[in-house]
Amino acid sequence: MYAMALSARGAPLALQQRPDPTPGPGEVRVKVSACGVCRTDLHVVDGELPGICYPIIPGHEVVGRIDAVGAGVKDLSLGMRVGVPWLGHTCGECFYCRAGKENLCDRPEFTGYTRDGGFASHLVADAGYCFPLGAHGEDTAIAPLLCAGLIGWRSLVMAGDAKTLGIYGFGAAGHIVAQVARTQGRTVYAFTRRGDEDAQRFALSLGADWAGASTDKPPAELDAAIIYAPVGALVPLALRSVRKGGRVVCAGIHMSDIPAFPYDILWGERQIVSVANLTRRDGIDFLAAAAKADIQTAVTVFPLAEANQALARLRDGKLVGAAVLRP
Ligand SMILES: [Zn+2]
Ligand SMILES: [Zn+2]
Repeated sequence: MYAMALSARGAPLALQQRPDPTPGPGEVRVKVSACGVCRTDLHVVDGELPGICYPIIPGHEVVGRIDAVGAGVKDLSLGMRVGVPWLGHTCGECFYCRAGKENLCDRPEFTGYTRDGGFASHLVADAGYCFPLGAHGEDTAIAPLLCAGLIGWRSLVMAGDAKTLGIYGFGAAGHIVAQVARTQGRTVYAFTRRGDEDAQRFALSLGADWAGASTDKPPAELDAAIIYAPVGALVPLALRSVRKGGRVVCAGIHMSDIPAFPYDILWGERQIVSVANLTRRDGIDFLAAAAKADIQTAVTVFPLAEANQALARLRDGKLVGAAVLRP
């Protein structure tokens, strides 16, 4: 197998050849056909998440086909197309797992962070955490659904029955969630970097009712706001645009510090919540909803060897939609 691996904090990813991995009991080996690039991959490369063991292969929006099956695997078989998401394994025993909140597991494993991910020709995954994908849709178009879509979905559920929804940061997750929210009959206001007219046009083309800069006041009060950009300063901005009783959902795994703000803008039973990881239920629910809503993803495909260029484009905010690597 070969992979674009990270050998040290902040280092560029480097092409490595390795012996083909063998799936253990309960695991499958997946021949990767597409892997999306997520902002969390940038946080991994930059060493912004704790406890990374090097070398590690990033990538957790994996689409591929099973080409080896370990002992005891029942529901998956050779040749089946599957998606491998961020949540790679949970303990099944801790307080959170027993409470049906496996996204908060105390001893989780994460694809492309604590176990090798999909910036590779092959990866080994826990069979219990792979999603069968069926035949509909192209591999590269589906890849961004595996994290941007899934975390986007969880954050949309967290936004409750908000009729008027603000989306801060209109990238991979935002462009998927806007489409789902529109099919649910919600009004969508898209907030982008100031002057990013490409992103604003893109948002309007996907059915957003309004697009503007994150510092702009939306045309109406928001019932809820979801923040996808890793920028803490957006939290008070969103709070100021959310109605009494409204909710600001922070959907990123890492965010710059939230600046101090007057209590006044939180007052009125406004809430700030974060979204962490995903459950397998989220995956099943979201993939069914995405197929029904016929979600269209905008992707820019890079060869796997150009993973560093794809990460740089994401870092610079120069992507419309999502980047996807193809081995
Ligand atoms: Zn992700
Ligand atoms: Zn657990």
